[in-house]
Amino acid sequence: MLTREQLAERDAGDALAPVRERFFIPPATIYLDGNSLGPMPRAVPAHVRNVIENQWGEDLITSWNRHDWVNMPKRLGEKLAPLLGAAPGQVAVADSTSVNLFKVLSAALAVRGQRSVVLSEAGNFPTDLYVAQGLVASCDCTLKLAATSDEVVAALDEDTAVLMLTQVDFRSGELHDIARVSEAAHEAGALVIWDLAHSAGAVPLQLDAWQVDLAIGCGYKYLNGGPGAPAFVYVNQAFQARFQPLLQGWFAHARPFDFDPQFVAADGIRRALCGTPPVLSMAALEVGLETFDGVEMAQVREKSLALTDSFMAVLQQECGDYGMQIVSPREPARRGSQVAVKHPDAYAAMQALIARGVIGDFRSPDIMRFGFAPLYIRFVDVWDAVATLQEIFATRSYDDPLYRARAEVT
Ligand SMILES: *Cc1c(COP(=O)(O)O)cnc(C)c1O
Repeated sequence: MLTREQLAERDAGDALAPVRERFFIPPATIYLDGNSLGPMPRAVPAHVRNVIENQWGEDLITSWNRHDWVNMPKRLGEKLAPLLGAAPGQVAVADSTSVNLFKVLSAALAVRGQRSVVLSEAGNFPTDLYVAQGLVASCDCTLKLAATSDEVVAALDEDTAVLMLTQVDFRSGELHDIARVSEAAHEAGALVIWDLAHSAGAVPLQLDAWQVDLAIGCGYKYLNGGPGAPAFVYVNQAFQARFQPLLQGWFAHARPFDFDPQFVAADGIRRALCGTPPVLSMAALEVGLETFDGVEMAQVREKSLALTDSFMAVLQQECGDYGMQIVSPREPARRGSQVAVKHPDAYAAMQALIARGVIGDFRSPDIMRFGFAPLYIRFVDVWDAVATLQEIFATRSYDDPLYRARAEVT
């Protein structure tokens, strides 16, 4: 039997506990959706206000040089690189994850030779599949989908140009072994693209050591960059000379301010850029990345697994009778930083939870998703969230029609 007191003791001994102070968490709120939108770091408003009032306001266009706005994509990329296990010069911050996927997949397909298959998973995040569907149609390639990690590896062959996967499944939270799967793909002669949307800032990554060719991910999830924050793109040093995305804009030009009518690709990671960086969004993301200052990803992972383990244990202990089914892997090595719980009334139950200050989200058709971001979630939050869930199911308060109306964003 776990008790709330035991969980409170874990908080007392938690080396990451003080990091919670870096965030604004609204009162009476347990925020279990930082995997979709990280909460606001307390330092964001003052920093963004400074960029608006003093830089944009006072220094106007001279800020591109004076405040080094022009190098924000590179500067933020270097700040992020250690979280990805990437040596300098391989990460840039730009555009959205969808757009960055278009860039890296088009660049991978440009060097495909006779190979014509992009291999992915049927359960991959839809935008990844949509971007791939558009690109394969433009070059007489096909998108082949397998159901599981093992089936993906088994489907690799001499036709596979690119293996494109998301490390942490957005629904179940299942975690791929990047090292193992990438090695199998490389043995089959394919390039690998990893989407790290639900990994960056939650799971320790070693992109260089794992010899990942290309990777992308979001700035607004565990990296706390704010709604619609720019995304990131990683291009392995070894692939950079061959990296030529279909989307080529002037920020990827060797000398943008020559205004040369002919495109000439820049060297290095700048090739992953397209146009003018969104400075205000970048400013918020820069502060988001700083919430990881002094934090080791190994600590983050240890706490993340402890949180998700406790959540599953307390859920079973307190809510065993309500027909909820945990669909996330029990095995720590196969689990990201979220727990997915299946129930036919998942949508209404999540609305009822949110109305009581426990914020998770719903993923169609029947999943309640709970994200555990170790920088600001406490062990007592695990207890209190489950206690709220227990109350909702014991009283069936989710039956209220108020909770059944579907909003546009779930
Ligand atoms: C959240 C998420 C995205 C989102 O892409 P955007 O372009 O930012 O909308 C893409 N891929 C995965 C795997 C995600 O989880």
